[in-house]
Amino acid sequence: MAVIGAGTMGHGIAQVAAAAGYRVILRDVDRSALARGIENIERNLAKGIQLAKLTEAERDQTLQHIRGTTHLEDVASADLIIEAAPEQLELKTQILKQLETFSDQPFVFASNTSSLSITAIAASSARPENVVGMHFFNPVHIMRLLEIVVGKRTSAETVKTVYDVGRKLRKEPIIVNDVPGFASSRLGVALGLEAMRMFEQGVASARDIDTAMELGYNHPMGPLRLTDLVGLDVRLHIAEYLHRELGSETFRPPEVLRRLVSEGKLGKKTGEGFYSWQNDQEDARRAHTS
Ligand code: NAD
Repeated sequence: MAVIGAGTMGHGIAQVAAAAGYRVILRDVDRSALARGIENIERNLAKGIQLAKLTEAERDQTLQHIRGTTHLEDVASADLIIEAAPEQLELKTQILKQLETFSDQPFVFASNTSSLSITAIAASSARPENVVGMHFFNPVHIMRLLEIVVGKRTSAETVKTVYDVGRKLRKEPIIVNDVPGFASSRLGVALGLEAMRMFEQGVASARDIDTAMELGYNHPMGPLRLTDLVGLDVRLHIAEYLHRELGSETFRPPEVLRRLVSEGKLGKKTGEGFYSWQNDQEDARRAHTS
C-alpha cells in the first residue's frame, strides 16, 4: 500500500495501515513534512503505549512496516494507493496521471478527498473503474468511520477491495454515491447551519443549543462547539460549496457565520468563535448570546 501526503490525514492512514500489517510506503513532496508525519506516528504510538492500548513490540512492528520517501517512483509497485494530498482537483488528477505513467501494473487509487468529486478525479484516468473515495476522519487512528465514495465509473470490484481493506484497518465502512458533501458532511453541515440560525434568531444560547443535542440526542459534542473545533472558516467554505452545488437553501451560510469569520473569530484556533476559548478550554459562560 502507498499513501500520498504525510500531513494530518496521510500520516494517520499510514499508521493504521501499518498497524494492520500492510507494508506502507508514505510519500510526501516535502522532506520536512514527511519527517513530521513520521514523528506524529511515533507520538501517537507512544501515547498508545502509555494508555496500555498497544505493546512496545506492536509499536516496533508498525514502525518497521512504514517506509518514507519523497520519490513518486517508489510507490509504483503498490496495489492500493491512498491519496491524501491537499484538497485541489488539479493536483489530485495530476498525481493520478503521474502514477499511471510510472506504474506498469493496475492499482486501485483511493482519494481521501473530503469534498471533491471522485468522478472528476477519475475523468482523465486510463482506468477510472479503479478510482474510488476512501474518506477517513481526523484523527484517523481514533475515528472509526470510513466513507467509501463510489464514482460514476468505479467498479464493484474496486468498492469491494477498499471495503475489505477498511475492515482490516478496523474501520466501519459506509458506501455512498459521489454527490457533493457525500453523507457525512451533508448531514453534519446541515445540522451545524441550523444551529447557527437558531442562535442568530435568539432561540437559545450557544451552550444551550449544544446541550440540547448532547443530552437530548446523545451527540458527543453539540454542533456549535464542533464548529469551533473544525474552524468557522472551514465550515463557511463547505457551506458555500454545498449551497452552490446542491442549490438548497439548507446550505445558505447564515449571517452570523459570515460575520464571525470576517471578524477573524474562527473558533478554537483563534481563541473565539461561538464560544470564547481560554488556554484551550472553552469558557461556556462567556458564550455569545444574540
Ligand atoms: P495537509 O495539508 O495536512 O497534508 C497534505 C500533505 O500533502 C502535505 O504534507 C504536503 O506537503 C503534501 N503534498 C502536497 N503535494 C503533494 C504531492 N504532489 N505528492 C505528495 N504529497 C504532497 O492536508 P490534510 O488535512 O491531511 O488533507 C489531505 C486530504 O484529506 C485533503 O483532500 C482533505 O480534504 C482530506 N481530509 C482532511 C481532513 C482533515 O480533518 N484534515 C479530514 C478528512 C479528509
